[in-house]
Amino acid sequence: MLEIKDLHVSINEKEILSGLNLVVNAGEVHAIMGPNGTGKSTLAMVIAGNENYKVTKGEIIYNGKNIVDMPIEDRAREGLFLGFQYPVEIPGVSMTNFMRTAIDEIREYRGQESLSATAFLKYIKEKKALVELGDKLNNRSVNEGFSGGEKKKNEIFQMAMLEPKLAILDETDSGLDIDALRIVANGVTKLKSSENATIVITHYQRLLDHIVPDFVHVMYDGRIVKTGDKSLALELEEKGYDWIKEELKA
Ligand code: ADP
Ligand code: MG
Repeated sequence: MLEIKDLHVSINEKEILSGLNLVVNAGEVHAIMGPNGTGKSTLAMVIAGNENYKVTKGEIIYNGKNIVDMPIEDRAREGLFLGFQYPVEIPGVSMTNFMRTAIDEIREYRGQESLSATAFLKYIKEKKALVELGDKLNNRSVNEGFSGGEKKKNEIFQMAMLEPKLAILDETDSGLDIDALRIVANGVTKLKSSENATIVITHYQRLLDHIVPDFVHVMYDGRIVKTGDKSLALELEEKGYDWIKEELKA
């Protein structure tokens, strides 16, 4: 589904990613961990298509196509979804209208008929239940005045609505209390299928108790420097990142 080869990315002439490789197959959940400032969010932004980040070398192959030059809207239509570390507020746009537009757009691209108002409301209700998001948010502007936990749940709700092929969740767990964490994690787990894949960027092993990853990667200095299974996350929790830096020096 996704194959990143020797990816180099710069912002304002400063290289942030320097030779990153990653392969993600359908049906897999990958966790990316690593110290602050190592380029995790940059990787998420670049895959999603944020144009502030320049790819100077390498390839991002998604569904068999190099998407480095593909516009952000087309990547979304092709089933890429990014859950933001810091979800943006969109004053004046209600949640319902926002989702309606997004769903209509995606269905049109997939050659499906637009949903009737009744079917749409039913669909929203079903997806909201998944993340235990109350109806009171429907008529509010997107993320405006939402609590940290509501914003993060809303990211998962949007993901549930859009049914992406590849979802990247950037620290969706940060700032969540234990209950919200469980709800978010359960949402992700319920959405998992053999047809889709998820990359979760996280600092905390505790998220990975709920979302069991097939692979855990450690990012350092703009590259993936170590890959393991769930036990690598436990090892990081226990020992921190210093031993990885030592291994790299050796
Ligand atoms: P992480 O998510 O792993 O904490 P980021 O990808 O957010 O790391 O950041 C990696 C590095 O890139 C940091 O040194 C950060 O300051 C820098 N960076 C990120 N975005 C920008 C930007 N828009 N302009 C300049 N530097 C940036
Ligand atoms: Mg980040």
